[in-house]
Amino acid sequence: MIPPLARRFVAGETTAGALEHARQCNEEGIGVILNQLGEHYDRREPAKEAAATYESLVEEIDLAGLRACLSIKPSQLGLDVSEQLFESNLDSVVTHAAARDVFVWIDMEDHETTDATLDAFERLARQTDGGVGLCVQANLRRTPDDLERLADLPGKIRLVKGAYDPPPSIALQDKAEINQAYRDQLRYLFEHFQGEVAVGSHDPEMIDLAASLHDEYGTPYEVQMLMGVRDDAQRSLATDCEVWQYAPYGGEWLAYFYRRVAERKENALFALRAILS
Ligand code: FAD
Repeated sequence: MIPPLARRFVAGETTAGALEHARQCNEEGIGVILNQLGEHYDRREPAKEAAATYESLVEEIDLAGLRACLSIKPSQLGLDVSEQLFESNLDSVVTHAAARDVFVWIDMEDHETTDATLDAFERLARQTDGGVGLCVQANLRRTPDDLERLADLPGKIRLVKGAYDPPPSIALQDKAEINQAYRDQLRYLFEHFQGEVAVGSHDPEMIDLAASLHDEYGTPYEVQMLMGVRDDAQRSLATDCEVWQYAPYGGEWLAYFYRRVAERKENALFALRAILS
């Protein structure tokens, strides 16, 4: 069972728990991006199982009439085994989801997977006429070129600062430089991208910037935040713009919970307070 401490960041161990969390968020005007925890599978079977679980999830979302979509890590669908396995699993999930009008996001993992992830997105964005979204990382030096490549595609792009730790030859390291890259790339997306822009950030400055870029260019956009991070802000923003919460769920919650606690002092203090109380 997930301890109450981790429940802040994880929407339950089971699909039923995740769907109930989605229902509660929907009541507060927030859409939910469901991610089944698990990544870096090095065998075909768990990757196939993950794809099958996402396909049943799509059916449950559709049946329950929830405002919910999926976000999937490429290595969860077998990219560490082969690009072919990843593509065939992803195709199967996306075909299933498109038939039920459920949107599918593709998360971005470490820099060695960027090409394969972009290629899969490009193919599926055309095939589904925009039924998929891609996460891009502002810290990578290649991202401005990638955004040019993606600009004419249908679908959605989620801009994040980047959660991995690529070497300096590949990625910006300085926080201020990453923030500047984020601002520049956000502007580029609002100005040039044909689809919808998602601001995958808790940073109030970037969220305000997106609102003013929307006023300037009229490009549709949404704000996306992680479950358990700035929950109050998610609720209050949802009265002004489209807000989606990224909510992971499933049995493999422990590593994800540690990552959340380790990444920020506030989260570590929250964990400590809960243990001591
Ligand atoms: P930071 O630069 O960490 O912080 C900026 C400001 O935001 C802070 O000064 C503070 O005001 C506010 N803030 C941030 N965190 C908190 C907090 N815990 N409590 C209160 N205020 C806070 N990364 C990937 O590499 N690949 C992905 O596929 C991916 N998907 C993501 C999906 C979503 C929906 C989100 C929100 C993030 C995703 N990320 C992904 C992670 C992302 O790359 C960043 O590592 C993470 O979001 C931290 O950067 P930030 O922009 O939120 O804010």
